[in-house]
Amino acid sequence: MKQCDSNNFAYGDNRWKALLVLSVVCLLAFPLWLHRAMGKDQTTGFVVIDPGHGGIDPGTRSSTGVDEKTIVLAVAKDMVPLLKHDHIKYVLTRDRDKYVSLSDRVQIANRPGDRLLLSIHCDYFKQHGMDGFTVLYAQGASHDSHVAAHLIAVGLIHEGFICHNVRRDTRGLEVLDKSNCPAVLVELGFMSDPHDLRYLTSKSGQQRLAAGLVRGLEAYLRVTR
Ligand SMILES: [Zn+2]
Repeated sequence: MKQCDSNNFAYGDNRWKALLVLSVVCLLAFPLWLHRAMGKDQTTGFVVIDPGHGGIDPGTRSSTGVDEKTIVLAVAKDMVPLLKHDHIKYVLTRDRDKYVSLSDRVQIANRPGDRLLLSIHCDYFKQHGMDGFTVLYAQGASHDSHVAAHLIAVGLIHEGFICHNVRRDTRGLEVLDKSNCPAVLVELGFMSDPHDLRYLTSKSGQQRLAAGLVRGLEAYLRVTR
């Protein structure tokens, strides 16, 4: 009988131990779950990466014969492994040298879902003296577009690039005006500037641009989701 009591006690003791272990596991797991949950929150939303031009539309051509369409596609492709690494869902409006109309680009941005459009281009100015990247958003842009524009600028500055400007678009760019989701257009640098052209056309420069853009997107998703 005593033994039986003892067994009962042992059983009860084990049960308490099990409960204690379970509690500790829960306490330890909660921050992990919270971290994961927050991580998941960070990556909700969908980024539409839009390398400008393509196919029959080369965009601007540098004095060295490099086309804007080639530079922006290279940067967009360099963004892909970084987006995957950060579990950021994305789509490219083009992943090769093909023509995509502006309305088709807007249509992709306007598909259902919590999207952000990031259109990528390069600048050109006939006279020397203009350098650095520019981030544009539409005249009547949403608050989220402003936030995205500034955080992307911060991301690029962090990678060592010079900021030429962050401002409203005054040309009425279709991809910005017609997109229903937050939308920004980044001019990565001036193809007319020798310094900018060096980073625009070098693999290391393109990878740094990609890193800066993804850094900005990460920050945007973190603060708006
Ligand atoms: Zn362009």
